[in-house]
Amino acid sequence: MTERLYEDDSDLYEFQATLVSREPHGDGELVILDRTAFFATSGGQAHDVGVLGGADVVDVFHRGNVVVHRVSRPLLGAPQPGSSIAGTVNRAVRADHLQQHHGQHLLSAALYRTAHIETVSVHFGEETCTLDCARLVEEAEVEQAVAAANAIVLEDRPVRAHRVRREELERFPLRREPGVEAEVLRIVEVEGFDATPCSGTHPKSTGRVGPIALLGLERSKGRTRISFICGQRALEDARRKQIIVRDLARQLSVAPTALPEQIEKLRNTEKDLRRRLRSAEESLAQLEAERLVAGTSGAVVVAELGADRTEEGIAFLGARIVALGKGAVLGALVGERAALFVGAPGKPMDAAAALKAALGPIEGRGGGNGQSARGSGPRVAGLRDAVAAAAAALSASS
Ligand SMILES: [Zn+2]
Repeated sequence: MTERLYEDDSDLYEFQATLVSREPHGDGELVILDRTAFFATSGGQAHDVGVLGGADVVDVFHRGNVVVHRVSRPLLGAPQPGSSIAGTVNRAVRADHLQQHHGQHLLSAALYRTAHIETVSVHFGEETCTLDCARLVEEAEVEQAVAAANAIVLEDRPVRAHRVRREELERFPLRREPGVEAEVLRIVEVEGFDATPCSGTHPKSTGRVGPIALLGLERSKGRTRISFICGQRALEDARRKQIIVRDLARQLSVAPTALPEQIEKLRNTEKDLRRRLRSAEESLAQLEAERLVAGTSGAVVVAELGADRTEEGIAFLGARIVALGKGAVLGALVGERAALFVGAPGKPMDAAAALKAALGPIEGRGGGNGQSARGSGPRVAGLRDAVAAAAAALSASS
């Protein structure tokens, strides 16, 4: 069994241990020591990284009671069992894992205490952490719990780890049942706030967790997933968002607190402008349709409408021409594509059949009904031929 130094002292980063065994593994080795300060992946918390005997520690895991360190290359000097080995745990990675992990304890405890919300599972990701609740939870409930957890951080309450025999467990009002069957359990206690079975790394007091920040809620199928981050990650996130908010406020020339109102105003202005633009386009299409119809005795045929057309706009113009009782074949370049509209005021003219005859030259696709049909294709050089083909098919059917 490996003695786990991190269980009693999560601030121990430098340690000496005796080599028990090492075996080749890929380019590196699997190393077992009599004791270690490296946390092995468990309970959702990721392993530590660092340096052992001059080699980088890339994985730490349990093999029964034993902690196994996987190093990227053989230990320096090829030490024999019984040799003394120096280890160094990476502080920044340890601190980050500890902040997320203990922050989750505080948040889960706060959710339970403020709204009786139980945590069913947790996940600690590279960037964000999630916590799943057993029911649908309102954002206000979570906000309240986050505030309560942050208050415990600011109070800097003592955190203690206890090794407790199963029969003594009632000393601790546990938030959840221990998941393991062991005789002696490790209970992590936050003074006057929480007690929960856990084997992870914890700070000596809650202040070390730093700020706990809520990132979002996802509610589905009777459950709620809360995304959050703690400590340095929360500070970094807040810093990045402050920059965004300051920049937006500068761009819109308002105070940061006025941003929501200002954005609402802009959205309303945009909606209004869109409505007016559409109305202007409709009037313009009516005028254009009347002009085109007045200039011809048969169907209106335009091989290439002017620039700035959309497929919607072309169909709109075509519909106006049809409404004036004329057939229409309209072609236009829309972006990189050739677009076609065929309209027929009624039988025996058939718009869909005429369009079908015209899709070949533009290598296009499309469809419609007897009154109106539209299509587009990538071969823009074929647009004039396509329009001519559609016009011929339409006049043949009339
Ligand atoms: Zn824990």
